[in-house]
Amino acid sequence: MTLRIYNTVSGKKEVFTPITAGAVKMYVCGVTVYDRCHIGHARAGVVFDFVYRALRHLGFKVTYVRNFTDVDDKIIKRAGERGISCDELVRENIAAFYEDMDSLYLLRPDHEPKATEYISQMQELINTLVDKGMAYVSGGDVFFSVEHFSEYGKLSKRNTDELISGSRVAVNEDKKNPLDFALWKSAKPGEPKWPSPWGDGRPGWHIECSAMGRELLGTQFDIHGGGKDLVFPHHENEIAQSQGASGLPPARYWMHNGFVNINKEKMSKSLGNFFTIRDVTQKFDPEAVRLYLLSTHYRSPIDFADEYLREAQATLDYLYRALYRAETIFKERKTEIPSGIHFENMNARLTSAIEDDFNSAEVMALFIDAAKKTNLMHKDVLDKTGEGFDVNELAKYYAALKAIGGVLGVLNRTPEEYFRTTKARHLVEVGLTDAVVAEMISSRNEARKTKNFAVADTIRKTLFDKQIEMEDTRDGTEWWVRR
Ligand SMILES: [Zn+2]
Repeated sequence: MTLRIYNTVSGKKEVFTPITAGAVKMYVCGVTVYDRCHIGHARAGVVFDFVYRALRHLGFKVTYVRNFTDVDDKIIKRAGERGISCDELVRENIAAFYEDMDSLYLLRPDHEPKATEYISQMQELINTLVDKGMAYVSGGDVFFSVEHFSEYGKLSKRNTDELISGSRVAVNEDKKNPLDFALWKSAKPGEPKWPSPWGDGRPGWHIECSAMGRELLGTQFDIHGGGKDLVFPHHENEIAQSQGASGLPPARYWMHNGFVNINKEKMSKSLGNFFTIRDVTQKFDPEAVRLYLLSTHYRSPIDFADEYLREAQATLDYLYRALYRAETIFKERKTEIPSGIHFENMNARLTSAIEDDFNSAEVMALFIDAAKKTNLMHKDVLDKTGEGFDVNELAKYYAALKAIGGVLGVLNRTPEEYFRTTKARHLVEVGLTDAVVAEMISSRNEARKTKNFAVADTIRKTLFDKQIEMEDTRDGTEWWVRR
C-alpha cells in the first residue's frame, strides 16, 4: 500500500512521494494571536496533529512547522482597543493558545516560528520579487504584481477576470491591478515597524508564511496545510510569492480541512453561535472534543452541537472502560501488561485507513472494534471464569487500543485518572459527592443482603436518575456515568 493525499491543487487523491525518501516536511498555517482560539482553530489544530502523528506512525521522519502571526492589522486594532501594547496582547494570546491546544493534547510542532523573528528573510524575499519585476513599490508600500505570475488562481481555481469583478477585492489607488496584494506596508503612526529599503513599515500577512516556510523547510517542501478558508487569498498568494521568487511551487501537496458549523449554521460572532475552545472544554472532556473532531474525515464540514459531544463522551467512556477492563484482567492474573505485541490485521487496517488520505473516521471504526473485542473477552472471563481464555489474545486488542489511541491522540490518561476526572465533573453537575454515592451504594448492598429488594431498588433508581449506573463485580460494586 501507499499513502494517498488529496491535493487541493489537482483536486484529486495523489500518491504521496516525499522529496527525500522516508522524510516529510510539513508547514501548517498557525493562528493570528489577537484573541482566544475558537472551535475552528481547534479543528485545524487537531486535524494536523493527527496528520503529524499518522505520518510518524507510517515511519516517516517528520519536520513539522506551525507559525504564529504576531504582527497584523487585527492585532494592532485589538491592542489599541484594549489600551495595551501589541507585545502584551501577543504574549497573552500565545499563552492562551498553549493552554487550549495543550488541553486538546496537541503535540508541539518541531518549529513554531513567530513572524516578527523573520523580518529580514521577508525583506530578502520581497527584494528578489522587486528585482525580478514581480513586485513594485508604490507610496512606501510594496505590492505583488499578480499579472506577472501566470499561474495565479491555480490553487483556488479562480480566474483573474472573475476575481476582479468579484467583491472580495478592495479598491486601493496605489495598486496597478486590484488583485495585487501588499508584501510590505508603510508604517502608520503608533504601529509596530521595522526599517526597510522601502521605508519603515511591516510585512503583509502572506509574505510571512512564504518566508518562514522557506527559511525552515527549504525552497520546496512536501505538505502545506491549513483550513479551507485559507485557500484564497492566503495560500494562493503564498504560491505566487514563493514560486515567483524561486521558480518552484513552495509545497507539493496542499491539504485543507473543512469548516466547523454550529447546529448546522456557519459559526459567527454576530449569530451568537461562537464557541472558544475554553467554552467547550469547560463543558466536555477535552479528549471527547478531540474524538469528535476526528470522527469526520478532515476534508468534510463538521457540525458542532452538544448532542454530538455527548455521544463522543459516551464513546470515550466506552474506550476507557475497555482499557480498564483489560488492565484489570492483567492485574488479576498477575500478568505484566504486555508490550511489543503485534496486533496483526488490526495494524494492517490502521495503516490502510491512514494511507487513504488520513481517513480518521475509518481509524475510529477500528478503535471501536478493538474496544468491542476487548469487552467481549472481558465478558468471557466473567461468564466462564476464564476457561479457555487466552491472555495473549487480549493483549493484542489492548496493544491495538493503545496504538490507535496514540495515532488519534486520545487515551492519553490512565483509565483511573480519566474516570476520576469525568466522574468528578459529573457529580458537580448532578449535585452529588463521591462520599454520598459510596454511602448510597453501601446501603443498597446492605438492603440486598437482607433481601430488602424494594429499598435496594429505590436507591438504584435514585442513582440511575442522576445518570449513575452500578456494576457489581467480583470485588464489589463500581459505578459509572450513564451517558
Ligand atoms: Zn500562512
